[in-house]
Amino acid sequence: MKALENNVLQALAKGEPYLWINPSMSDGLSSIRKIRFGMSDISDAEKRLQKFAPLLEKLFPELSSSNGIIESELLAVPAMQALSSSESTEHREVGCEMGKLWIKTDHNLPVAGSVKARGGIYEILCFAEELALEKGLVCETGDYSVLANTEMRDIFERYTISAGSTGNLGLSIGIISAALGFKVCMHMSVEAKEWKKSRLRDIGVTVIEHTQDYSTAVSAGRDAAALDSYAYFVDDENSERLFLGYSVAALRLKRQLRASNIQVDEDHPLFVYLPCGVGGAPGGITFGLKQVFGRAVHCFFAEPTQAPCMLLGMATDFQDNLSVYDVGLQINTEADGLAVGQASKLVGQIMKPILSGIFTVTDDQLFRDLFRLKHSEGIEIEPSAAAGFGGPDFICNSPEGQAYLRHKNLENCMAMANHIVWTTGGRLVPEEDYHQFKKRGEELFNVLTS
Ligand SMILES: *Cc1c(COP(=O)(O)O)cnc(C)c1O
Repeated sequence: MKALENNVLQALAKGEPYLWINPSMSDGLSSIRKIRFGMSDISDAEKRLQKFAPLLEKLFPELSSSNGIIESELLAVPAMQALSSSESTEHREVGCEMGKLWIKTDHNLPVAGSVKARGGIYEILCFAEELALEKGLVCETGDYSVLANTEMRDIFERYTISAGSTGNLGLSIGIISAALGFKVCMHMSVEAKEWKKSRLRDIGVTVIEHTQDYSTAVSAGRDAAALDSYAYFVDDENSERLFLGYSVAALRLKRQLRASNIQVDEDHPLFVYLPCGVGGAPGGITFGLKQVFGRAVHCFFAEPTQAPCMLLGMATDFQDNLSVYDVGLQINTEADGLAVGQASKLVGQIMKPILSGIFTVTDDQLFRDLFRLKHSEGIEIEPSAAAGFGGPDFICNSPEGQAYLRHKNLENCMAMANHIVWTTGGRLVPEEDYHQFKKRGEELFNVLTS
C-alpha cells in the first residue's frame, strides 16, 4: 500500500498529466448508504431553493425567465467532439469509441457566472432563513420574498458574511449577501484575479488581499470571524450547506437528461468530468449524481498538474495531511478556481466509496481546450472550467482508463456512452481577460496542429 502511494506521489511530483483510478470505490449500495447525507437532504435543499425563488427573482431581474431558479443548460457539443478527436492525443494507441460529448454549462450560470452560484448562494439563503425564522419575521410555509423588505434588511445589515476564496466563491457569496443587505468581508488568496476583486469592491464588499495561498486565506477568515459574534463564516473546507447546495445539480440534470431522451443505465453509462479545487463543488455534485444514478454514473475529478490536492489527499487517505508543496509543487497554475494546495478532508472521505478517479491536466491543455471550445462551438469559458475536457481521452485512450472500463465491464457499451464535461465558470470574465486566454490557447493549438 505504502509503495503504491509512493508511486502516485512520484507521478504527481513530475507535474505531468496523470489518471488515478480510485481503488476504494465500491459502488455497492451499502457503502453509499453509509454516507452521512442522503437523498432527503438533497430534496430539502431543492425545496428550499424553490421557496426562495420568488425572492431571487425580485433581487435579480435576470432570473425572471427562469422564475427565480438558477440553472444552466445541458448542451451537446458535436463540433468540439469532432475537433478534439481529429487530433492526435497523448494516449492514442488503444482507443475505443466514446459515444457522445455534452457540456453542463455552469460557465453561464446567472447571477454569479460559475458553479459557485449553486453552493455559495444556497448557504447564504440558509443563513438568511435562519435569522428570519428566529426573529419571527417569516414562517416556514410563508412567502419568502418578504426577506427583501426593509425590516429584514435592518437585521441583515448587523451581520458580516465572510469567506476565504480564490475568486469565484467570493463573487457568488458577495453578490447574494450584498443584495440581501449583509455586510461582506472577503479574504482573497494570492491567485485571485484583479477583476474579481474590483467587482466585489464595486458592490461594497471589503476585500482583504492575502499574499499567500487559499488555505491561508481561509484560516485567516475563519480566525477573524471567530472573534465577532455578528460574523457568519462560510467555511469552504468544511461546509455541509455548501455541499448540499451543490448536490441539487443532480436532480436538475436528471430532468434535463430525460428531456433530451438520454438514457442512463448500466448499458448506457454516463461519464461526468468535474473540475476540482478544494472539492466542495465537484464533491456535492458527485454525491448527488451517485444518489440519482447509482452505478450507471462514473464521476471523475479534474485538477491542474500543479495543484492536484484532492488526488494527493485521497491517494494517501488523508493520513499525513499532505499539501501539494510536500511533493514539490507550487500551485503554479492560471486555473485560479482550482488553485488549492490542500483539499477538503470532509469531502474526500465522502468521495472514497463513490468517486471513480481523478486526472490532472497541464495549463497548456486548459488553454488549448478553452480555445478549441471557442473555435468549434463559439463558447467562452475561463481556464479552470476547461479542466474536464481531458477526461474522455483519458478514459477511452489511456491504459489506465481502458483498465477501468474492462474492470467495470463497459468495453462493449462505450458507443452508447454519454460524457458530460462540467464547464464551471466564465460568464463574468471581462472581454480583455478572455481575449488573452484565447490568444494563449490559439498559439498552443497552432503549435500542436502545425
Ligand atoms: C471553485 C471552482 C471549481 C471547484 O470547486 P471546489 O469546490 O473548489 O472544488 C471549479 N471551477 C471553477 C470555475 C471554480 O471557481
